[in-house]
Amino acid sequence: MRFDELPTPCFVVDEALIEKNLKILSGVMQRTGAKIVLAQKAFSMTTLYPLIGEYLSGTTASGLFEARLGYEEMGKETHVFAPAYREDEMDEIISICDHIIFNSFSQLEKFKDKALQAGRKIGLRINPECSTQVGHEIYDPCSTGSRFGVVRDQFRPELLDGVTGLHFHTLCQQNSDDLETTLNAVEEKFGEWLPQMEWINFGGGHHITRDDYDIATLEACIQRMQDKYGLEVYLEPGEAVALNAGYLTTSVLDFHKNGMDIAILDTSATCHMPDVLEMPYRPPLLGSGEAGEKPFTYRLTGQTCLTGDVIGDYSFDQPLKIGDRLVFGDMAIYSMVKTNTFNGMPLPAIAVQGKDGDCRVVREFGYQDFKMRLA
Ligand SMILES: *Cc1c(COP(=O)(O)O)cnc(C)c1O
Repeated sequence: MRFDELPTPCFVVDEALIEKNLKILSGVMQRTGAKIVLAQKAFSMTTLYPLIGEYLSGTTASGLFEARLGYEEMGKETHVFAPAYREDEMDEIISICDHIIFNSFSQLEKFKDKALQAGRKIGLRINPECSTQVGHEIYDPCSTGSRFGVVRDQFRPELLDGVTGLHFHTLCQQNSDDLETTLNAVEEKFGEWLPQMEWINFGGGHHITRDDYDIATLEACIQRMQDKYGLEVYLEPGEAVALNAGYLTTSVLDFHKNGMDIAILDTSATCHMPDVLEMPYRPPLLGSGEAGEKPFTYRLTGQTCLTGDVIGDYSFDQPLKIGDRLVFGDMAIYSMVKTNTFNGMPLPAIAVQGKDGDCRVVREFGYQDFKMRLA
């Protein structure tokens, strides 16, 4: 079907745009020999895993369920990191993950023998205590009091036996100059133990597929670790895989006036795009302008009872009408992985737009998806 025939609300991911991103990432892999895996936290659209698997080396996960999803749906390398693993999930994790990354020496001590006996590669997450993002505390694993990664003064080299890799993840939507700064901190604090490692994982947060991303500096960082320490380098971006590759198409349900024009859409910031409120950010909306930029300005709002369920103020060339379709951009990442059914809000359908422009709905949700999560 055509894009404008899709049901609303609906997430639509454009296969050609995903592939454009994948080609950029596989270019980095080919030129450097580094391996790139998909961080499923950002994007878990399994329909596209076969395509992603043609280009990338596999998946990484934040725990058992994501690991299982990657293993079942892509089935290449399966990495996992969790702040702490539960005893009762470890056997299954070991049975499906080839790289298991621990967040502390106590977790390492607890599970290392079992993982090594099964032939798994084990790594340790380090915290280089090098904040490169400002004003984004909740996305900064190097912020004060962060639970992520072992800091230098807690590092216990005598317990590294069997550990073949170090992992750090400190970036969020950043360019490669911040990676370089971080890598300097990693070397300064942990460089002593790099020669005894086999691999290093640079984590995610690299906005590699963004137009202004400096790929040459990224590749120099990779090569530095390869040449200086003989390490195999892993990157695990989430956002970069599906950046600007999807939409959320919605319909206008009604209007309201209260000091301004308000439109109510068949979507919800809090249920369908929670990062709009959490991050917070203003999602791009096709054909619109900033408030006041075009002649007709509306506050776009959601269908729930939360007063703050507001997507933002946008302006248009023509007045909006009931039934008009509004299409939000960059809606592939951190969107469908974060939806919820608060207030009985239906979940958006999920569709793929093929390379020929034709769209197909791959999943629709209903009342049962709301009810089954309650008891
Ligand atoms: C979130 C996360 C990623 C992916 O981050 P993006 O910002 O989506 O690239 C990779 N690794 C770890 C450990 C993460 O927590």
